[in-house]
Amino acid sequence: MAKAFQAVKGMNDCLPEASPLWQYLEQCLRETVSSYGYAEIRMPILENTQLFCRSIGEVTDIVEKEMYTFIDKGEDSLTLRPEGTASCVRAGIEHGLLYNQQQRLWYMGPMFRRERPQKGRYRQFYQFGAETFGFDGPDIDVELIAMSARLWERLGFADQVELQINSLGSNEAREAYKSILVEYFRENIEQLDEDSVRRLESNPLRILDTKNPDMMEVVAKAPKLQDYLDEESRSHFDVLCKKLECLGIKYCVNPTLVRGLDYYNRTVFEWVTNNLGAQGTICAGGRYDGLVSQLGGQATPACGFAMGLERIVLMLEQLDGIKDKLSQQVDVYVCMLGEAAEENGSLLTEKLRDAFPHIKFQSHCGGGNFKKQLKKADRSGAELALIIGDSEVQQSTVNVKWLRKQREQTSLSQEALLSELVDLIS
Ligand code: ATP
Ligand code: MG
Repeated sequence: MAKAFQAVKGMNDCLPEASPLWQYLEQCLRETVSSYGYAEIRMPILENTQLFCRSIGEVTDIVEKEMYTFIDKGEDSLTLRPEGTASCVRAGIEHGLLYNQQQRLWYMGPMFRRERPQKGRYRQFYQFGAETFGFDGPDIDVELIAMSARLWERLGFADQVELQINSLGSNEAREAYKSILVEYFRENIEQLDEDSVRRLESNPLRILDTKNPDMMEVVAKAPKLQDYLDEESRSHFDVLCKKLECLGIKYCVNPTLVRGLDYYNRTVFEWVTNNLGAQGTICAGGRYDGLVSQLGGQATPACGFAMGLERIVLMLEQLDGIKDKLSQQVDVYVCMLGEAAEENGSLLTEKLRDAFPHIKFQSHCGGGNFKKQLKKADRSGAELALIIGDSEVQQSTVNVKWLRKQREQTSLSQEALLSELVDLIS
């Protein structure tokens, strides 16, 4: 026998058993953002490598170690997108969606990062993102946060997540803070790991984003960016906090929250949970007012977030009663015995599908006696079985059998079924 293949490490199949939960999540996401007037944008999965280097930053984990990059037929360097914001901005500029306009956009799809696979961290993973353009006040930052808060509420785990916020200030304020930070880390250089020593020169803020547990103390004691904010960013942040309070959204200010991508300024936020072990961030975002001009567009303020869907699915799986919320694959299973019954039954099922587009029918295929067919009906999870044999064809009737509750089997005319089926399903 030939050797069977396996999926690429860190890239998962979503099996039929798992897909109802994903579909449920995707539907909640679409409905939630639609209720705020956001429109969908779909971008390609491949982009020119330089797009990500220039936006995310050369000295970041993503660009330094995690991108899937290849040369296309000896010519262009292409990269599987590691995130959606850069592509979204590229598309917005390319199609003239941003200049002098306001946009509220969302996207959903796979992202690729070559990380060490573990629970909640994969090499192909799915993100849902929202991006807004043309708004510079903290009101839109609050809208994005409120939208995500509404989603946790709807999904049923709002009590298990915490909102952390911070402000990165203006570029100038951040530059001034950087030299203070570098000075502090130099004084404590023996506590830094190799990566951080290197970043001391190239990107010192990133040291605050370290995941190394041995460095938590030196990071916690570092000077706080909050104490060096420019006046405008300070008041932007104060209004943000006030508006969150007004909406009753609880938050905690985390002074070491700097995010792993270079393009952020002012507001940054993360929703974190203790329920997923080390991979606790389920949603992360912030303001990136400089990115549009950095990628060749007219300066346009922007703010957005991205959620990791695998981590949200892991949260959902821990909820009691989640199964009840998932829609069944099959509502009605149609059993047919004999050639005449198969013809009559297939026609009837097509008519039922016309009459009840929201009910899910599965027609038995592959023959076999009624006992075998009913076993399949039961396994399908259907609530009802419709049973058609020779005598039903002759009398133009159907036997209706309830599979999930105690109720006497009954015979109905096919005509009656076409108007009453919906009443037979609870
Ligand atoms: P982390 O700190 O967990 O590495 P990040 O800062 O690299 O996250 P972002 O680039 O901000 O993550 O992506 C937004 C969200 O996408 C994260 O908060 C997380 O929920 C999810 N995410 C990021 N990388 C992965 C991955 N490799 N596998 C699954 N989900 C991921
Ligand atoms: Mg990461």
